[in-house]
Amino acid sequence: MNNYKNRSVRHPGVGRFLLATTVLALLSVSCHQQQPVQLVGEAQGTYYSILYYDAQQRDLQPQIDSLLDAFDLSASLWVDSSLLRRINANLTDSLDNILHTLLSHSSFVEEYTGGAFNCRVGRLVQAWGFSFKERSEPDSAALAAMLQAVNDTFSFDSLRVHKSPATEFDFNAIAQGYSVDLLARMFNSLGIESYLINVGGEVIAHGKKANGKPWAVGIERPAENRYSAPDVEISIPLVDRSVVTSGSYRKYYEKDGVKYSHTIDPATGRPVTHSLLSVSVVEDECWLADAMATAYMVMGLDWAKAFIAAHPEGPGTDAVFFIYDSCGTMKSYATPAFKQLIKN
Ligand code: AMP
Ligand code: MG
Repeated sequence: MNNYKNRSVRHPGVGRFLLATTVLALLSVSCHQQQPVQLVGEAQGTYYSILYYDAQQRDLQPQIDSLLDAFDLSASLWVDSSLLRRINANLTDSLDNILHTLLSHSSFVEEYTGGAFNCRVGRLVQAWGFSFKERSEPDSAALAAMLQAVNDTFSFDSLRVHKSPATEFDFNAIAQGYSVDLLARMFNSLGIESYLINVGGEVIAHGKKANGKPWAVGIERPAENRYSAPDVEISIPLVDRSVVTSGSYRKYYEKDGVKYSHTIDPATGRPVTHSLLSVSVVEDECWLADAMATAYMVMGLDWAKAFIAAHPEGPGTDAVFFIYDSCGTMKSYATPAFKQLIKN
C-alpha cells in the first residue's frame, strides 16, 4: 500500500516527524566544529531523519535504505509479500532473525505487562479498521472468535513458529523501534559513535554532539486532533538512550462523537477509550521504549502508575503521560525517574 520507492532524499531541509518526538536544535555547532551528515528519507510509511558525525563524511543512505527495505520485507503488514503476511496467511511457518527477535521481545513484554501488550491482536486491529481493511464494528460473535485467536497459545524457536490458524501477528507496536535499534547497530559497526536516528518519531541518540553537548529531543504536548501543529512541551537530553511516544490523538477515528484509539485492549478486544492522550518512554533500547509506550496506552494512567510502582527497577520507569482530567483540562504526569532525567 505504501509506496516505498524514491525514499532517498539527501539534505532536503527539515524532515517531518509524525508523532510527538521532535529533534531540537540539531545543527547548533560552530563553523570550527565538524558538521554532522544529515539524511532524510521515507520508511515504513513515514519519514526518517538521521544525523551522524563521521570523519569520512560517508553517505550511508544506500545502506540505511537497504536495511529498512529488508526489514519491511520481513515484518511489515503493508508489504503484501512480507514474511509476516505469509505467516499470518498460514502460507509458511518459517522465521527469519527479525521475526524471531520480534516474537521473543513481544513475548517478554506481554508477560511483563500482564497481557496489556499482545502481538496477536492482528485480526482485531484489522476488524476495528486501523489497518488496510474497511472500518467496521465487529459483532459480538466475531469479537469472541477474534479474542480466542488473541489468547490461543503459540510457540516458536529460532526457525519456526507454531500458532493457531486464526492467530495473526501484528508487530506495529514494536517493529519500528526495533528497526531503529538495527540502524543503531549498523552505525556502531561502522565505528560511528555520535548519531541521532529518528524513524517516524522513534528516536535513539548515541554519543554527544561535536560541541560536547547531548543530543536534545523534544516531546510534544498532544494536539487537539491529528491536524494540529506539534508543540514541543519538554526537551530531554538523550545520551545512549531512546525515546518513543505512543498516542491516541493522531491515530484514531471518530464515530458518533466517540474517538476510537488504534490501541486494542487485549482483555476486551476493543479499542481503548480512556483519557490517556499520549505517553513517552525513555529506555536504553528503542524496541523496549516502543513496546512499553504501547502497553501504557492500553493500561491507562492509573494502572500504569501502579505498574511502575510495582516495578521500580524497570523497564519502563522513565515515562511522561499526558491526560485529560475530569474537567477536560490537559495535564501531564512525569515519573520520578523521568523528572530526574530532564534535570540532568
Ligand atoms: P504504537 O503506535 O507503537 O503504540 O503501536 C500501535 C499499533 O500496535 C496499533 O496500530 C496496532 O497495530 C498494534 N497494537 C494495538 N494494540 C496493541 C496491543 N495491545 N499490543 C500490541 N500491539 C498492539
Ligand atoms: Mg509502540
